[in-house]
Amino acid sequence: MVATPPRPAVPDHQPGSVAVLGIPFDEYSSFMRGPAKAPPIIRRTLHNGASTLFTENGIDLEGHPNIVDQGDLKLPDGDDAIDAIQAAVAGLAARGQRILALGGDHAISFPVVNALADHYDGLQILHLDAHPDLYDAFEGNRFSHACPFARIMETGRIDRLVQVGIRGMNTAQRRQVDKFGVTCIEMKDFNPDRRVELAGPVYLSVDLDVLDPAHAPGVSHHEPGGMSTRDVIGLIQSIRAPVVGADIVEFNPDRDSNGLTAAVAAKLFKEIAGMMLLQRA
Ligand code: MN
Ligand code: MN
Repeated sequence: MVATPPRPAVPDHQPGSVAVLGIPFDEYSSFMRGPAKAPPIIRRTLHNGASTLFTENGIDLEGHPNIVDQGDLKLPDGDDAIDAIQAAVAGLAARGQRILALGGDHAISFPVVNALADHYDGLQILHLDAHPDLYDAFEGNRFSHACPFARIMETGRIDRLVQVGIRGMNTAQRRQVDKFGVTCIEMKDFNPDRRVELAGPVYLSVDLDVLDPAHAPGVSHHEPGGMSTRDVIGLIQSIRAPVVGADIVEFNPDRDSNGLTAAVAAKLFKEIAGMMLLQRA
């Protein structure tokens, strides 16, 4: 589990256990920086005593042998960081670990997924976000946090990309949705009972701005009209296909109010971890 230090090292990981990896990278955020500060704040919130480490499906994450905190990556600048993230995830995946990444901005998803695609054929992605993040380039940067799913899809190694919660797509983004054959469930068509059928292996990417800013104000891009925290939890808990990797990205502590978004990030962390542990790979 996300360790309250110091905790004795958990014996090295059994295959299929979940590696928690902090990825403090926000250099390619287009609008404001801040998400690089998120991983330690999410960890601190998990252990602040406000709630237990039990998930809603009854798993106690405290000291759980199949979830191991790998700490935060120390990253070089720029594109070297993208390569370093990919190498770190490749190392964990080579040891049979599943990944639960704490961003960072959404730029981290490309190197994480790219590393996992070396290990899993037919990866399907469930992407929760207010934005499709499918730009070919944004302000000249092909690795911008506005582009990861274009980079991921053009590898040709992804079986299916399902996006949920999108709102306010422009013409260029809609063209990319068509180009890459993305299943896009826009927020205007979403209802809380909506479920997404996936066949594993699955990667789950949660951009916290999929939530309405009333639920999660601590994000760089406020896009009202989004999901409730319960909507997101409902989607997480409905996943039946095996999940081999996940991320929680775009928490910007500089924009938070009263620790509310930190609590949401910690809650979603617990529910994603609980869902992955119940599956036991
Ligand atoms: Mn995003
Ligand atoms: Mn977004």
